[in-house]
Amino acid sequence: MSDYNLLIDGKMVPGDLTMPVLNPATEEVLVQCPRASKQQLDQAVAAAKAAFPAWAATPIEERRKLVIKIAEAIEANGNDLARVLTSEQGKPLADATGEVMGMAAFFRYLGSLDLPMRVVEDSGDRRVEAYRRPLGVVGAIIPWNYPLLILSFKLPSALLAGNTLVVKPAPTTPLSTLRFAELVQDILPKGVLNVITDANDLGDHMTKHPDIRKISFTGSTATGQKVMASAAQTLKRITLELGGNDAGIVLDDVDPKKVAPGIFEGAFQNSGQVCLAIKRLYVHESVYDELCNELVAIAKNTVVDDGSKQGTKLGPLQNKMQYEKVKALLEDAHKNGKVIAGGSAMDRPGYFIEPTLVRDIKEGSRLVDEEQFGPVLPIIKYSDNEDVIRRANATNYGLGASVWSSDTARAHKIASRIEAGTVWINKHLDMAPNIPFGGAKHSGIGTEFAEEGLAEFTQLQIINAPPA
Ligand code: NAD
Repeated sequence: MSDYNLLIDGKMVPGDLTMPVLNPATEEVLVQCPRASKQQLDQAVAAAKAAFPAWAATPIEERRKLVIKIAEAIEANGNDLARVLTSEQGKPLADATGEVMGMAAFFRYLGSLDLPMRVVEDSGDRRVEAYRRPLGVVGAIIPWNYPLLILSFKLPSALLAGNTLVVKPAPTTPLSTLRFAELVQDILPKGVLNVITDANDLGDHMTKHPDIRKISFTGSTATGQKVMASAAQTLKRITLELGGNDAGIVLDDVDPKKVAPGIFEGAFQNSGQVCLAIKRLYVHESVYDELCNELVAIAKNTVVDDGSKQGTKLGPLQNKMQYEKVKALLEDAHKNGKVIAGGSAMDRPGYFIEPTLVRDIKEGSRLVDEEQFGPVLPIIKYSDNEDVIRRANATNYGLGASVWSSDTARAHKIASRIEAGTVWINKHLDMAPNIPFGGAKHSGIGTEFAEEGLAEFTQLQIINAPPA
């Protein structure tokens, strides 16, 4: 028996089913985790629907207080949450602690926002007011790379706006979310937040459910397309945060030694399992060899180990499926490029892959064209700025990108021509709750965080009356 439970209608309840959750660093079963049946998902949706009218009618100031209380509960239980996160996700404990504290910061900031009424027109003809009303039950579907942080991209805004929720973490990383549910069950009125788990079998039912009004989804582009198709039947609102194949573009004027650490971090954080990681690095021919050498030196000094061990910089990949996918991409890399660091899976239990750098590789190889979502970076040579802009944009993805240069104005000109939701200059992966975030093209629909993200959890209502 596990001490984890689902949260349905204000109660922590066992699942009708169970499923094993593994530690990706050892491949050992951590726990038999509760798994919800379809009936339990329906119960969770019914509880959220029943709780909605009272929660929507609660003044926003009261809702805000509870969102901030959740931030306090996260902070007070940070060590426990981080430990559970490392055990199921694999990331180093220091990174897990950073994720938990980031989660609390998102709750604090997003909980502090407001949804004021806006007077659109107040004239002799009419008085028109615009209100932001809650939508109803929101379904939040979360991937396995940042289970807690991505939850905090959605939950505080949805709650503050007056919605109730059913949250579904990924099947391989449900434990930290269930621990979080336990912490907040007494903070929120019953039914306002429900957390269920599945074995990749309930997402479709959620997206079709007639009583769910919006799906806030983060995951792969392929699943996002399914979500969009099935949400169409009930005209659900959707926010989709999907995959990416971010280009890092290094101009000819950089100091390779100076930029290498930031580029390495931007590509390898969380073992490359970041939607917004640098996934293709374009380097001008004049600094190509030198930058490759600098990156190799960093890769060789990077400690890859069990995330619970002190000093670990990169943990394993999170699950077997991803591990197998990255191994197949490594084979492709050996055929289509020159591996200059790493290059193999590690000979030990767990889903470990050496941080790998591949030079002299081009478009047309799988490692460049596909989202690797792992610690393997292709480094591509270019010679002409117009050409590199075209190549960076020659993908269906459009999540992020970065331009590296000693001349910010020059980098800015290139940044403005990249088709991506976020383009950084001389950095990558700098995110904050006050900076709106969303993908272009196949990387998503809609925006998260900030006022723009909050608005997506609301329905605009216009009240148009005669002049007062
Ligand atoms: P995934 O698409 O396989 O799964 C994401 C979630 O969707 C899981 O909870 C899964 O159970 C659920 N799901 C599965 N089938 C479903 C269906 N038919 N309907 C509804 N939900 C369903 O993605 P993943 O492998 O967990 O995560 C990795 C991917 O997520 C990568 O492509 C990555 O780039 C992307 N991602 C994007 C962002 C972003 O903000 N843009 C952030 C993190 C990860």
